[in-house]
Amino acid sequence: MNLETDILIIGGGSAGSLAAIVAKEQNPDAKVLVIEKGEIHRSGSIAMGMDALNIVVQPGLSTPELYLNSARIATDGVLDYKPSYVMAERSYSILKRLEGWGIRFPKDEQDKYISLQVHAKGKFLLEMDSPDLKLVLAEKLKEAGVQVLNRTIITKLLESNGKVHGALGFNLRTGEFVACSAKAIILANGGCARFSLPNSGYLYGTFDYPGNAGDGYSLAYRAGAQLTGFEYTSCSPLIKDLNCPLLYITLTRGAKVINAFGEEIKLEYLSTQTMLKELREGRGPIFIKLSHLPEERIQEIERILFTTERPIQKRFWENRGIDFREELIELGITEYQLCGGHGLTGIVVNEKTETTLKGLFAAGDVACVPLQHLTGAFVFGEIAAENAVAYASKAQIKEIDKATIEAEKEQLFSILNDKESDGKISVKEFEYKVRRTISDYVVPPKNERKLLQALWWIPRFRKEMKNIQVNDYHELSRFKEIQFILDCAELSTHASIERKESRWGWFHYRTDYPEKDDKNWLIHVVLEYGKKSGEPITTLVPIKTKGD
Ligand SMILES: Cc1cc2nc3c(=O)[nH]c(=O)nc-3n(C[C@H](O)[C@H](O)[C@H](O)COP(=O)(O)OP(=O)(O)OC[C@H]3O[C@@H](n4cnc5c(N)ncnc54)[C@H](O)[C@@H]3O)c2cc1C
Repeated sequence: MNLETDILIIGGGSAGSLAAIVAKEQNPDAKVLVIEKGEIHRSGSIAMGMDALNIVVQPGLSTPELYLNSARIATDGVLDYKPSYVMAERSYSILKRLEGWGIRFPKDEQDKYISLQVHAKGKFLLEMDSPDLKLVLAEKLKEAGVQVLNRTIITKLLESNGKVHGALGFNLRTGEFVACSAKAIILANGGCARFSLPNSGYLYGTFDYPGNAGDGYSLAYRAGAQLTGFEYTSCSPLIKDLNCPLLYITLTRGAKVINAFGEEIKLEYLSTQTMLKELREGRGPIFIKLSHLPEERIQEIERILFTTERPIQKRFWENRGIDFREELIELGITEYQLCGGHGLTGIVVNEKTETTLKGLFAAGDVACVPLQHLTGAFVFGEIAAENAVAYASKAQIKEIDKATIEAEKEQLFSILNDKESDGKISVKEFEYKVRRTISDYVVPPKNERKLLQALWWIPRFRKEMKNIQVNDYHELSRFKEIQFILDCAELSTHASIERKESRWGWFHYRTDYPEKDDKNWLIHVVLEYGKKSGEPITTLVPIKTKGD
């Protein structure tokens, strides 16, 4: 299938959906196409709904400056001023847009939005009651006249002379090859949820949306864009064995965290570092305790946990025979991930979502605006659309030449095996092995020797991929995802070796450089594809403060 569009959006999750709707608002005549690996009604981190918009600056009640002070504490100073400022500044209008679409933000008796404190300073988290949020977005997108290609994975971005002009991929059910030329491209395809292995050993048992395997990072990297923050491999203490979120929902409503000895763990605001330390130092298991709360509070917590994000939780607790009125909720450590929404990782962008490649914009978890959460996905989805539409109005379509299409087709489809052959390994087993190795060598505690072990494994895995048995197009998409995961592992290892200090608590903790060193290392480690070496090149780039 050969396509031409004004704006191509890769990924129809939170940021991609908003970008598509806003692109049509900006220019109803523009051709806007979303290419989505899953099915747009349920794809991405939202899937159903969310219980809060984590960052909202309400005029008259808080300010972007206060948010920035808070975010600087939460990120150990690793954030550029302008993108985070712009996100905070535009957060309230996003809330109003969502309200206009029927999304409910509960209010108290004084008619004020219910806001909760999860940041070091200021109450920026606003309760949201929206089990249908993803359906609403999908519906708005349809009404706006956006074209959607579901079940299609993008495997390559096309770039020439520093400009991006198209993308290639295939339908993971039918195998239909897709080549799309575009005047402007918005990457909105999330972070890398499938990085290290979860304790359960289930490949898809991750906290974040498992369809995101670092595709966006790898696509941008191989097209020549700059990326940053890959040393910050983060994890969270969440519901053990299920990896579902609950900290913000319970702790903001009076829950306590207690350790194996029944002692309450005093938290420094809602930082997870204290809980992770408790587990590392052998005072686990740790638990969330609700039994001291009044019945109506427990019911409120149950209502949110069992409806909005993942209703499966209700069945999970029923099967375990656990009633929060009496029993404790055990927390376990999730897998490690790379993310611009909950973490500090992503494609380098400015406040206009421009990447370092012309014609390529990036929004949401794929972009590095640290800890931007859903607010960032929506705000930068809007901003990406505004700028991509303006860019596209002056750009020309560049036709994709036949040779490029044939080369990618050949490269992809030659991986398919038509019959099972001896000695081949399944895609699942191979992914397991890659991610187990990431768990062994790429995540904290780190040191140079350990990271070098990872660099020994990565090229070896790439060579061994020829031994994978790929039976159908779905498995072919998983094969491609392993390549994306390996790219992320390589980027993370290089960045971690480069940063010779420890920063962001446990998430980049090096036993050979255990101290934080603001004097030398309050700086970004930026990565770029080395055209000669085929390996990442790292450079150190100053953090942009208010004046820059
Ligand atoms: C469980 C959970 C709970 C959360 N709760 C909250 C909350 O309460 N409040 C809050 O503010 N934030 C919350 N967040 C964070 C927030 O949801 C995310 O930051 C945000 O949704 C990310 O949006 P996104 O568009 O960047 O990524 P996503 O919404 O994940 O979308 C990425 C899309 O790209 C598609 N894709 C990936 N690769 C490809 C490819 N190669 N080709 C085509 N398509 C591709 C995927 O299928 C997916 O649909 C939560 C996150 C999670 C995981």
